[in-house]
Amino acid sequence: MLTSSSQTHTPTPTTAPGPAIIAQSLHFRFGSQMVLRDVSLEVFPGEVLAIVGESGSGKSTLLNLLYGNLQPCQGSVHAIGNAGLQPLASLSQQTLRQLQRSRWGYVCQNPRDALRMAISASGNIIERPMAMGLRHYATLRQEARHWLEKVEIDPARLDDLPGTFSGGMLQRLQIARTLISQPALLYLDEPTSGLDVSVQAALLDLLRKLVSNEQMAVLLVTHDLAVARLLAQRIAVMRRGEIIEAGLADQVLDDPRHPYTQLLVSSVL
Ligand code: ADP
Ligand code: MG
Repeated sequence: MLTSSSQTHTPTPTTAPGPAIIAQSLHFRFGSQMVLRDVSLEVFPGEVLAIVGESGSGKSTLLNLLYGNLQPCQGSVHAIGNAGLQPLASLSQQTLRQLQRSRWGYVCQNPRDALRMAISASGNIIERPMAMGLRHYATLRQEARHWLEKVEIDPARLDDLPGTFSGGMLQRLQIARTLISQPALLYLDEPTSGLDVSVQAALLDLLRKLVSNEQMAVLLVTHDLAVARLLAQRIAVMRRGEIIEAGLADQVLDDPRHPYTQLLVSSVL
C-alpha cells in the first residue's frame, strides 16, 4: 500500500492539481499465479514515481494494468483522460486507444518493439499526431526536427531509417515519438536497461532533463536502484507482486525500513 504521497504533496483544493493516476487495491493473476496483490498508488503531475523490484516481481504487469492493456481481477485504475480522472474499466476500446495515443505515453525497454523500422525517423515521430489529423504535414516535420534536437539526435538524420541508428539513438527516437504528443502521463518500462553503461548514463541525463521540464506524471519501472535515485522523487518497492515499502526516494534508499529493501539496497553498494 502506497501511503507516502501526503509527505511529498499537500494539495489544497484551490491551487494544486490532483493526481494524474490513482490505482486502488489492484489484484491480478495469470492463470493460477497471483501476480499482483493489493497494489495501490497515485502519481501527481510533475512527479516521478519509481516502481523498483527484482525481475519477475510484477513491475511490467503493473504498468500494463495502469496503461489499460491488462484488466485487474479486483481493484480500479483512474487515469487522466479528456475530462479529468476517468475509471479505465468504463472506457470503450476506442476511447482507451485514443487516450493511449494522445494523453499517455509508453516507452518500453526495447525500442524495436515500438518503432516502425521500415519508415524514417521523422515518420516514426509524427505518425500518431498525423493519424489524428490535427496538424499539417509541414508543421509536423518542423515538430519532428524540434523533437530530434530535444532528444539530442542530429536533425540531419530526419529522413534516415531507424535501422541505421545505434541502440541509444533508437531509444531516443522512441522517446521523441512518445513525447511529441506531450502526454500528461508517461510510462517508462526499464527505459535504459538494454543499453551499454556509458550510453545509459547519457540517456538518464536526458530523461532527467525532459521529465523535469514538463508537467508530466511519470511512472518509471526499473530493477536498477541507481536509475530510481536519479529520476524519481518517490519510490515503491515491489516484491512478489506486492508493494512492501514506499516513500520519498532518499528515505527509501538511505534509510529503508523493510528488511527486503535493506537487502536490495545493500546488494548494490
Ligand atoms: P517484472 O517486470 O517485475 O520482471 P513481470 O510483470 O514481467 O515482472 O512478471 C511478473 C510475473 O508474471 C512473473 O512471474 C512472470 O512469469 C508472470 N508473467 C508475466 N507475463 C505473463 C504472461 N503473459 N503469461 C503468464 N505469466 C506471465
Ligand atoms: Mg519487466
